[in-house]
Amino acid sequence: MKITDIRATTVSVPLEAPLRHANGCHWGRFVRTIVEIETDTGLIGLGEMGGGGESAVATVHAMKAYLVGRDPARLEEMRFLLANPTASLYNNRTQVVAALEFACLDILGQAWGVPVSEILGGRVRDRVTFASYLFFRYAAADGTGTVRTIDQLVAHARKLKATHGFTTHKLKGGVFPPDYDLECYRAVAAALPGDRVRFDPNAVWTTEQAIRFGRAIEDLNNDYLEDPVFGLTGMRHAREKLRLPLATNTVVVNFEQLAANVLNRAVDVILLDTTFWGGIRPCVKAAAICETFQLGVAVHSSGELGIQLATMLHLGAVVPNLSFAADAHYHHLVDDIIDGGKLPYENGAIRVPDAPGLGVRLDRKKLATYAELYRQLGPYAYDQDPARPGWAPLVPNDRWADPTDGREPFRG
Ligand code: MG
Repeated sequence: MKITDIRATTVSVPLEAPLRHANGCHWGRFVRTIVEIETDTGLIGLGEMGGGGESAVATVHAMKAYLVGRDPARLEEMRFLLANPTASLYNNRTQVVAALEFACLDILGQAWGVPVSEILGGRVRDRVTFASYLFFRYAAADGTGTVRTIDQLVAHARKLKATHGFTTHKLKGGVFPPDYDLECYRAVAAALPGDRVRFDPNAVWTTEQAIRFGRAIEDLNNDYLEDPVFGLTGMRHAREKLRLPLATNTVVVNFEQLAANVLNRAVDVILLDTTFWGGIRPCVKAAAICETFQLGVAVHSSGELGIQLATMLHLGAVVPNLSFAADAHYHHLVDDIIDGGKLPYENGAIRVPDAPGLGVRLDRKKLATYAELYRQLGPYAYDQDPARPGWAPLVPNDRWADPTDGREPFRG
């Protein structure tokens, strides 16, 4: 089998409401680039990548020169061809390799008549459990959806639990001052007794703030505290002073960093992202290393549509030491570009697709609709807060948003 063409289409898919985070905001939509690899057998494989609110079409198309005429089964060779560890110092293509790996695995699964999870060693579970992933939000254009006050946050968490069945709740903080985050997090935990909770301020605190916050939540039903500070050294320092696990999706995102963390532990739980790690297979390899060294494993979300969600499901299906609920932004989306619409949650979990390959196919009509929406709206600045023009967040940050500021930059 040979690759004959690679296509990329950028789409803009609406969110229920704009999602605020420590570095800015998702401006009411996800911008994703859908990758299709065509082969001489007629099979088409699907991949997906993000890119901070921007299109990645040009980057993907530039890969045609490397891949047309090659065998989609030679995934290790592709990794070295596109992301040789020394040559790629000039052109970090990890995310592109990930999207192309998804598409090649999708082709192989279809060609062999098996789901991707079987190529990866076989399932140990048929459903992957997810956390609720709570964000502070601005209102959508219709004026609904704001999450800023504690009451709004608790109501939002309760509604998500009632709708999707979540029993683990992740709060994305780092937007407001740490004391306000603490109040909010404790309120969510108190409102949902018996459920698990986790908190992620996107690495914007000082080590001292991280220690203060970590000690103030010790009595809660925490999975872990995620990226309270940036850097392995800062995490190590915080971990020495805390009695709850620390997790990361920022400072252990490749094998070199994983080795450093094994030799001198700074983080307890590694959040594996099929994009950041360069594909599903590197995540499976990393999970095996974590199993050996008794590190926890969970699945990270970098803002997915259905294709990437399928990669997260197949990963979650095959990793025996998946010790926590997975993260997904998915329930914030109002639609998807896959056939049949959004994959449904059942009791806080999503079924791993059974059809060959990734098990999801493109809805071409929706792809065209949301590609047109991208053409109309263009990219957005993921690392800017539309309510605070000129704002430049630092790491560690002290330029917090004001929880009493009710400005709504998106309301029509
Ligand atoms: Mg995180």
